[in-house]
Amino acid sequence: MTLLKIDDLHAFYGKAQALHSVSLEVEPEAVVAVIGPNGAGKTTLLNALSGLIPYQGEVQFNGQALPRRPHEIVARGLIHCPEGRHLFPYLDVRDNLALGAYLRHDSAEVTRDLQTIEALFPRLAERRHQAVHTLSGGEQQMVAVGRALMGRPKLLMLDEPTLGLAPIVCEDISRALGEIRQTFEMAILLAEQNTGFAFAHAERVHLLETGQLVREGSSDELSEDPYIRQAYLGR
Ligand code: ATP
Repeated sequence: MTLLKIDDLHAFYGKAQALHSVSLEVEPEAVVAVIGPNGAGKTTLLNALSGLIPYQGEVQFNGQALPRRPHEIVARGLIHCPEGRHLFPYLDVRDNLALGAYLRHDSAEVTRDLQTIEALFPRLAERRHQAVHTLSGGEQQMVAVGRALMGRPKLLMLDEPTLGLAPIVCEDISRALGEIRQTFEMAILLAEQNTGFAFAHAERVHLLETGQLVREGSSDELSEDPYIRQAYLGR
């Protein structure tokens, strides 16, 4: 069964239409990327799915209509790691991670997941009692990803996880993403301007331009598409 099925989704900011008839699907445990330039609507799409902005259209998640209220969406297992991270700056790493599990009652498993995340990101274990505003950008991104994982997503929505990070830190995030996929059984919907990163991780890629999906295919197909090669891969 398809995990996420978006059908004919439209979103507006006042009278300005930001998304036009977006339809896409994510299979269980698949990684699907939405790529596109600044302002294409990638963040708008993830924010709509998270219940942060209204939309028109049908969204099915795990066989049921996706609720519209954020906490109900999280409870279903659709969890957002937002652009800009939105951490709690004066809480320490541990507390930020623990807050990702705020809807869970299985405390032994929550403790185990905390240990798993600290094993995935050893730097977070070393800094577990440090306030997150004192961490580097890359470390903060690790906290944001870890916090989302603490909610045990069926589908993790990752918005620009490498934005503003140095290439060496992007490699850390990239390696962690590979390990996360092996450890947590979940799908990922990745919004990325970093086309190389998206192609490296996703099986399917959708290209969004000015609010419309204009290309769709497997990573292998699209990385050979002449328009994508020229406009997005620079080759
Ligand atoms: P980026 O990679 O720069 O974040 P994006 O693809 O995520 O780009 P969005 O942030 O979703 O793009 O923006 C899509 C369009 O909607 C843009 O034209 C943007 O100016 C507009 N937009 C986004 N947020 C708002 C808002 N709160 N009010 C009005 N317009 C908005």
